[in-house]
Amino acid sequence: MNKKMRLKRSRFAQSVGITAILSSSMLFVASPSFSETIALDASQHSPLPVDITPMFISLGFDDNLDVDGMTWTLAFLNSRKNPQGADAFANAPLSASFFMHCNPARTDEHVLQLWRNAKTAGHDIGNHTETHPDDKVNWNPLDNWMTAEAWQEEITRCNALLLASEEKGGIGLESVSGFRAPFLTYNENTLSAIAANKITYDVSFPAGITPEHDGTNNYWPHTLHDGSKEHDLAVNGGWKPPVSEQPSLWEVPLHTLIVPPDAELEKYGLAYSLRDKIASRVPWFDAVSGKGDNFDWNLYSEPAWGAAGLNEDDVVAIYKYNLDLRLSGNKAPLVLGLHSGFYGYVNGQEHFGMPETTVENRRRVLERFTDYALSKSSVRFVNHKQLIDWMKAPEALVVCPSEEWDVYETYQTGDTVTYNGEKYKASWWTTQQMPGLYDNSPWSLIDACSPSS
Ligand SMILES: [Zn+2]
Repeated sequence: MNKKMRLKRSRFAQSVGITAILSSSMLFVASPSFSETIALDASQHSPLPVDITPMFISLGFDDNLDVDGMTWTLAFLNSRKNPQGADAFANAPLSASFFMHCNPARTDEHVLQLWRNAKTAGHDIGNHTETHPDDKVNWNPLDNWMTAEAWQEEITRCNALLLASEEKGGIGLESVSGFRAPFLTYNENTLSAIAANKITYDVSFPAGITPEHDGTNNYWPHTLHDGSKEHDLAVNGGWKPPVSEQPSLWEVPLHTLIVPPDAELEKYGLAYSLRDKIASRVPWFDAVSGKGDNFDWNLYSEPAWGAAGLNEDDVVAIYKYNLDLRLSGNKAPLVLGLHSGFYGYVNGQEHFGMPETTVENRRRVLERFTDYALSKSSVRFVNHKQLIDWMKAPEALVVCPSEEWDVYETYQTGDTVTYNGEKYKASWWTTQQMPGLYDNSPWSLIDACSPSS
């Protein structure tokens, strides 16, 4: 079987799974079969030198129609703060993006109130269409049934709810910045409708699928003025339709997540090959590159539906590993695709079809990963809109070390410590090297830092 055929078959199998099960915006799959290559370009660099670039983590939650999950998610984000420092995002409660499936919320005052609460808390409220349509015929992404007018209506109607005042039953946004396509199915009509509705960014394109992208050199957010090379790869692979360049539209890359290789298992607390586990369940997973899905649906759901059916420790390991890859590389933002509904009970019950996790397990994944991330002084959780705004006017990271140097600890580039009353930052990987001891030390003195709040 040639590569293209294998890929097409995998797309089909996956689409069958999701379409049968639930209305969610999954369908993010790595495409490890590609052998085509692209040149590295400017999008693979932060606009600032990497050592003064924040390590952004940006969570995006879809649908948001489940009261318990949305309630827990908002409380969780508010329960933690970014690390200390003197930049705009330091010390702030965590902020995330929420992509709303609008129509069912119109008649659910409880859900509407939660969306307003999210806005009031400073989260980014985005458009996930009015009725969550899947614009494919027979699961074929190249065969679309929606007209340009239908796409306009999907996006305009949802925007109208988000922009209407609270008195008129809306959410009261001043503008809608972001969009995610249901099932990640988009085409020319989708992009035209986004642009016509003055939406600033999309977060639906494939990303991280080229062989050159190894987790340390991923793309930063970029405008689609020159299109997207990874979209073009998907077009060549036969699973995305061609689209026009969009000079003013930003793309937030939602990268494939790389599963920790066997050599790293001990570091991430696993006693078995996670790549083998996923390969035994997901036919199109490439255990050599380790590139797998990003969306939580794909990580947790039933293998019979085309997902990996992973457990709590597995997903924590994947999230941590991908953060560590970025911290050792170009610090491209770690963008995660999530569904707030999966972090709450459904009428008091567990979710159907997540064989190795409970609601409590999935909540602990977010808690454990977030606490790990927040132990890194350069990490800043921001919503997608804040990320785009930062790209337009980047501000240097200013850290404030809070941890004492520990002889037994291993430090990565950018980690900070205090020692003998001074503050230090690691210029490269180091362990068992006392700060300030000699010239050409991995530890350099730093100063600026705000008091903790
Ligand atoms: Zn969705």
